[in-house]
Amino acid sequence: MKFAPEKPAIYGETLDTLTTLLKEHGHPAFRAQQIMEWLYKKRVRTWDEMTNLSRPLRTWLTETFELEPTTFVLNKQSEDVTDKLLLELGDKSLIETVIIRAPQLGVGQENSRKTICISTQVGCAMGCKFCASGLEGLKRNLSAGEIVHQLIHVCRQEDARTPRAHAELVSFDNLVVMGMGEPLHNYDAIMRALTILNASWGLGFGARRITLSTSGLVPKIRQLADEPLGIRLAISLHGATDEVREQIMPVNKKWPLAELLPAVREFSEKHGRMVTLEFILIEEINDSLDQAEKLRDIAYDLHAHVNLIPYNTVEGLPWKRPSLTRQEKFAQVLDRGGVSVTLRREKGHAIDAACGQLRLKTEKSRETSVSN
Ligand code: SAH
Ligand code: SF4
Repeated sequence: MKFAPEKPAIYGETLDTLTTLLKEHGHPAFRAQQIMEWLYKKRVRTWDEMTNLSRPLRTWLTETFELEPTTFVLNKQSEDVTDKLLLELGDKSLIETVIIRAPQLGVGQENSRKTICISTQVGCAMGCKFCASGLEGLKRNLSAGEIVHQLIHVCRQEDARTPRAHAELVSFDNLVVMGMGEPLHNYDAIMRALTILNASWGLGFGARRITLSTSGLVPKIRQLADEPLGIRLAISLHGATDEVREQIMPVNKKWPLAELLPAVREFSEKHGRMVTLEFILIEEINDSLDQAEKLRDIAYDLHAHVNLIPYNTVEGLPWKRPSLTRQEKFAQVLDRGGVSVTLRREKGHAIDAACGQLRLKTEKSRETSVSN
């Protein structure tokens, strides 16, 4: 379904598109740069705060653009480790943006960076059997402006925690496109959003610190490999053979491993950087040592890093995470085979950090209160 808001979000404009629009409407071109500064450096919430703009220009902006395309609903915090922001869109849909502050412990690796996880769609069309986001299909794509605005909320949240003098800086280290939705199924909007986040007039966030995760849309992976923006790529593999992968990820029927893996190799070679293979460990589904060995061979061959994620249970779904011993045994097979591997520790389970779960619960409780 398509959502056509009355006014487009200003956060979806690039410096070029805004300059063109301003000129078309008789406003000086240099105003575009000033507007970007108010948006991305000062992060104002009202047009009236843009005090160096003329009144007619502010009126035109008010009539032309939405300044706050998403509204903050709640922040579900977990012991100062994870913040989960629930945001409402113009059509009342809900999305999630997560701030992860915890150190990430892995097999022989420690990493204490602050990572932001953004959503790209309301729901998801890919229908992975284990995932809360895919349970009810795709509701709609997010616009570029709605994607960018998630980071503005994060910056505001962080600005409140940091001294005023540093408020213009972006205070997170990594950005992962791993929230609700399949980013490559909303290709143009996510690429535009990432271009805006990366631009010096935008948030100025380094492309090498951005990782996009995909369930494996092969033609789009190839397209991404040719983009000038050098972002990192993560593949949701979750099965080391077609037989296992197909059982839990319908996308594997369209693009089986024989098509997916060469596309990943091509991306990796073009970018000269390691790709990450994500592998959720689900008890009795994909956690056998045979799968571990096959995954080791794939990763070794691709020179890829493997991120093992113990499954987060989803209400209404039968899947479970394997025991810690089993998780560690699986990781050991990779580690001993010379593959770089991290085993993600439980994080945010208590606040429904697995993608799509908080939103699903809130929508369900809304439905319940409506039907009562
Ligand atoms: N659609 C993209 C990005 C969003 S999903 C993709 O699939 O890659 C981000 C990651 O969360 C994916 O690796 C996905 O498989 C994983 N995930 C989904 N549900 C999960 C769950 N219940 N527990 C653990 N990880 C989950
Ligand atoms: Fe969509 Fe990713 Fe969830 Fe699969 S895992 S349903 S692709 S969000």
